[in-house]
Amino acid sequence: MAKSTRRSFMAVSAAAVTAGLAGPAQAAARRKPVADPQLRAMLREIDPKRVEAIIRRLVAFGTRHTLSAQDDPDRGIGAARDWLRAEFQRYADRSDGRMTVTLDSFIQPVSSRIPAPTRITNVVATLRGSVTPDRVYVVTGHYDSRVTDVMDATSDAPGADDDASGVAVVLELARVMATRSPEATIVFAAVAAEEQGLYGSDHLAQTYKDQGVDVQAMFSNDIVGTGNAHDGTANDPHTVRLFVEGIPTSETAAEAGVRKSVGGENDGPSRQLGRFVDEVAGNGLTGMRVRQIWRRDRYLRGSDHISFLLRGYPAARFTEPRENFAHEHQNVRVEDGVQYGDLIEFCDFGYIARVARVNAAALWSLSQAPGTPKGVVIDTTQLTNATTLRWQPNPEPDLAGYEVLWRETTEPDWTHTLEVGDVTTVTVDLSKDNVFFGVRAVDGDGNRSPVSAPQPSS
Ligand SMILES: [Zn+2]
Repeated sequence: MAKSTRRSFMAVSAAAVTAGLAGPAQAAARRKPVADPQLRAMLREIDPKRVEAIIRRLVAFGTRHTLSAQDDPDRGIGAARDWLRAEFQRYADRSDGRMTVTLDSFIQPVSSRIPAPTRITNVVATLRGSVTPDRVYVVTGHYDSRVTDVMDATSDAPGADDDASGVAVVLELARVMATRSPEATIVFAAVAAEEQGLYGSDHLAQTYKDQGVDVQAMFSNDIVGTGNAHDGTANDPHTVRLFVEGIPTSETAAEAGVRKSVGGENDGPSRQLGRFVDEVAGNGLTGMRVRQIWRRDRYLRGSDHISFLLRGYPAARFTEPRENFAHEHQNVRVEDGVQYGDLIEFCDFGYIARVARVNAAALWSLSQAPGTPKGVVIDTTQLTNATTLRWQPNPEPDLAGYEVLWRETTEPDWTHTLEVGDVTTVTVDLSKDNVFFGVRAVDGDGNRSPVSAPQPSS
């Protein structure tokens, strides 16, 4: 990979410049994985045996259905809630006060799949950032489970893959990160009532929205249990799918008008997040390929990232490469010699640990890099074949500057990058009509933020 030189960085570090586009400044946008020693240590600490123990414990609650018992110490969602809280607290106790554990609890009134007012509780561990604590990244798995009849609150619903696997990812991340000090805040949440209609994550996302929390990325880990579909197809143990929408779910009519005018359907904040994750986490560090799927979710299905997308937060969903639907949302039974049910025997703990490593690389890279630049606009006050970009300054104290990226409109990912220094406006001698532009922030260690695509200024 070519990289812009320090000299070219300095050459354009004026308040406004017309940058030359030939020579060393013109470089491929893709970079090698960052060899952050703290990240490497965390990836080593993520433990398939811990993953297995967590899933065995969750399955042992019999059912974790949202309408199941809340006060039985052994069986039902209440017992699972209490265990999760205690487990997070064990990790928090080793965090020197950085991690706090809370219950985000509320009464859901009668609604679809909720026949009587029901207490729903998310278990939330928040690891406060050391430098920019107001910048927040969220990772979730859902701890409720279900069988064939979504209203059946008593039958055994092991939910090993859907979604004890995702909760195990979240717990392992919380455990290995609790002893570290990320620059931005990371939230680890086991959410409830996903199967009844995303009620838990909906409440969490709305709470953040009401409080004006700056959630810059959210990941749902839902059905991340195995690379083996157990259906005769080839095992695919080193691939995880990442569903990322293009056109934002929260897009307004005015924003849609702009998009219809000048494009951008492939440049929403979640799409940029997907590219970021692929770059920092789909590599030799994690041993995984991040297969981006450029849609919000699978047909007929939807996970907790949608709750965050609805509030305008960038969000994406991790899920295994190929699902076996006989192992999801099914009563545990044998029929015509076929085993149905979401049983732990179909989980691959090594695979789940690798998915946790992908999440760790993504979250740590996000937290150590500057935040995504805000208020990025492309000057459209006059007709010109040059391009002027402006943005708001980032707040991080270790900020080094910014990079402008671009690509042909037909390219899926950024192909060119130009270091422009610590400025908030730049003019490049390249027509905005012919390429797509983006801006990202860079810190003194070379950590790069996700890319922000510009909106027209007028
Ligand atoms: Zn699920």
